[in-house]
Amino acid sequence: MKEFRVRFAPSPTGPLHIGGARSALFNFLLAQKLGGKFVLRIEDTDRERSSRESELNIFASLKWLGMNWDEGSDIGGPYGPYRQMERLDIYREYTQKLLDRGEAYYCYCSEEELEKERQEALAQGGNPKYSGKCRLLSAEDRQKYEAEGRKPVVRFRVPEEQEIVINDLVRGQVVFQSEEVGDFVIVKSDGIPTYNYAVVIDDALMKISHVIRAEEHLSNTPRQILLYEALGFEKPQFAHISLILGKDRSKMSKRHGATSVVQYKEEGYLPEAVVNFLALLGWAPEGEEEIFSLEELIKEFSLERVAKNPAVFDIEKLRWINGMYLRESSVEKLTEQALPYLIKAGYISGKPSQKEKEWAELVMTALQERLSTIKEVTEQAKIFVGEEVTIENEEAAVVLQQETFPLVLRTFRDKLVALEEVTPETIKALLKSIMKELKLKGQFVYMPIRVALTGQQHGPDLFLIIEILGKDLALRRIGKRLEKTMHN
Ligand code: GLU
Repeated sequence: MKEFRVRFAPSPTGPLHIGGARSALFNFLLAQKLGGKFVLRIEDTDRERSSRESELNIFASLKWLGMNWDEGSDIGGPYGPYRQMERLDIYREYTQKLLDRGEAYYCYCSEEELEKERQEALAQGGNPKYSGKCRLLSAEDRQKYEAEGRKPVVRFRVPEEQEIVINDLVRGQVVFQSEEVGDFVIVKSDGIPTYNYAVVIDDALMKISHVIRAEEHLSNTPRQILLYEALGFEKPQFAHISLILGKDRSKMSKRHGATSVVQYKEEGYLPEAVVNFLALLGWAPEGEEEIFSLEELIKEFSLERVAKNPAVFDIEKLRWINGMYLRESSVEKLTEQALPYLIKAGYISGKPSQKEKEWAELVMTALQERLSTIKEVTEQAKIFVGEEVTIENEEAAVVLQQETFPLVLRTFRDKLVALEEVTPETIKALLKSIMKELKLKGQFVYMPIRVALTGQQHGPDLFLIIEILGKDLALRRIGKRLEKTMHN
């Protein structure tokens, strides 16, 4: 059986974005599942917009997501080079063949002439495709143009009246007519191949068995199929995966959330969660379960369950998935991920001491259930640092007005001063004893202490909060609050 070989072929014209990562993932999952090869090819023929920086960003983003490739521009492989600008000789060879056989020709039309032609065709209600004017240039015509200093492009001669059938593995049968396609440019005047041309030669020579890519390329596929036929290459199977739309059904853009993968990393999402989320953009698992590790995805994924209709990008869903992963994570791992944020916020020093690390671990224990992203730790851990307590809102302020508030706070202070060891257990016992002594229900003890210590009515476990603050800081905060209460 033919080897299963797929590729991801990004143009390095910017950071890897969500759509590209999703295409890469579908290819990667299938290669893993079927024991095939996943090839990373860099399509850098747009010389103005391509950059090494983008290429490195793409590598780093794929690696962060856990997708490694078997062959690629950085690691080589049996069908290299894997960067298109390093393959110009290869394209040239095929262009010569097509020219020799009359299946391609030089075209000297200038941009202005082409535009004029387009406008005329449109005015007459026709198809604004290239007229084929240069198909029949004589050697003299060519000489004349060359003498004028015109630099030709190479166009592919599109065969007439041919039906082009694509049996797309996602979209089913899609039929195009060659009449709809004008003779298109395969090599630009600077000698650089166009996307449609280079992609065919590369996919064929790299023995790609399945081309799995975004739906926006479906309209390019008929041109590519004509080239496969003209060049005598065996065609791969095609699968075009749906567009990604925002929740408002418009094309996914920055308005709907960050578009590049690195931004998700910076915002504190876990790669496992992003991968899980990307898989669900177009693929529907069989059962109700939506949380899948990479290994599980490799097992479960299939093109049969990839939908034809557009995928909807819902950032809330990603936050939910990420929260699920955070809750499943070990506190040690969470702490490791949170340290840079805690350092950046100035909550702990740049080189955290053992004590600071232990503190960070307690903070993560307290916040684990409450975070959707690691970055949120900056905001949520605020309550654990500094002397100042900001009363969050009116409702919290009302708690401070309770008649029993000063008494509860004083009793808590006195008992805390006397407490030898501050642990969740001793705190729990302490609060219980206050309830008993003052004959107050839990909420009249817990809530005022919580608000006095954090300024908020809701938040992590109160016993943990007190443990994290430590006896001294907790006492100082209580003291300050009591002072303010007495002055009011
Ligand atoms: N370089 C193209 C892109 O980034 C690749 C398209 C394809 O997969 O054929 O859109």
